[in-house]
Amino acid sequence: MLRSLGFLLVPFLAGFTASAASKLNVVTATEDLAALAREVGGDRIVVDSIARGYQDPHFVEPKPSFILKLQKADLLVVVGLQLEIGWLPPLINQSRNAKVQPGGSGYLDVSSSCVILDIPTGQVTRAMGDVHPLGNPHYWLDPDNGRRIAQAIEQKLAQLDPAGAAFYAQRRADFDSRLTAAEKRWDAAMAPYRGRKVITYHRSWPNFAAHYGLEVVDYVEPKPGIPPTPSHTLDVINTMKRENIKLILVEPYFDLRTPNSIAEKSGGQVVVLMPSVGGVEQVRDYFQLFDYDIGLLASAFEKAR
Ligand SMILES: [Zn+2]
Repeated sequence: MLRSLGFLLVPFLAGFTASAASKLNVVTATEDLAALAREVGGDRIVVDSIARGYQDPHFVEPKPSFILKLQKADLLVVVGLQLEIGWLPPLINQSRNAKVQPGGSGYLDVSSSCVILDIPTGQVTRAMGDVHPLGNPHYWLDPDNGRRIAQAIEQKLAQLDPAGAAFYAQRRADFDSRLTAAEKRWDAAMAPYRGRKVITYHRSWPNFAAHYGLEVVDYVEPKPGIPPTPSHTLDVINTMKRENIKLILVEPYFDLRTPNSIAEKSGGQVVVLMPSVGGVEQVRDYFQLFDYDIGLLASAFEKAR
């Protein structure tokens, strides 16, 4: 009995460890990048994200477990444009993993493959708040950039795992066609609201707004990364009344008190939109992210008529 069990178990275990060991170990800075890496890498890779989707990606509390993840990584995918500047560089450094150091074979900054907005033209000073000098790092919120990120990930995976190149290419092409189909649905849902003006809390949505034809008129933050002030809040209320703006879009990690009071005084409404996969339970992949946000937006615009 024991012998026959052993006979059955040994090949199973051997096969299991071999395949787990041969999988590429991918770590991403955010859950959006993890979702896109999963689309392309399928079961040839193991993916883990450092930041969670409900966290403000500018501020992630470093933990020793993150260093362990980076120690074992074959590939690190980052948003770049200094989004992670406050927390990722020391983690990479302490991992002592040469592969994932900037410039290493396993370091991929996908921003260089994407269309980037809000690139400052003049000199950036402290007085401007937390302006990202290389441009707006919230660029994954445009499906066309999602497509570009998947492409960059495919190229990098094929480079690190040439035997899987055809597999990655096929999966990326499949993702691409599913994204094209979803985009038709999203474009149709948003078409009636092109040209609508909105307020957002942080500058997280320029790519999303450009893609769907929304106009972001002002922000709850007086300057990027600077908390609301009474005088700026009053300006926002007046702007909303004057320009008949009805929606205030807020990321899930900001305090709702100021947005709620702006809504109350301007006759508008607060919509908590998800900037990232993993922000709420039902948003587990890149498609569900846009389904969720566009669903919420369309019904909020409808209500605000
Ligand atoms: Zn930002």
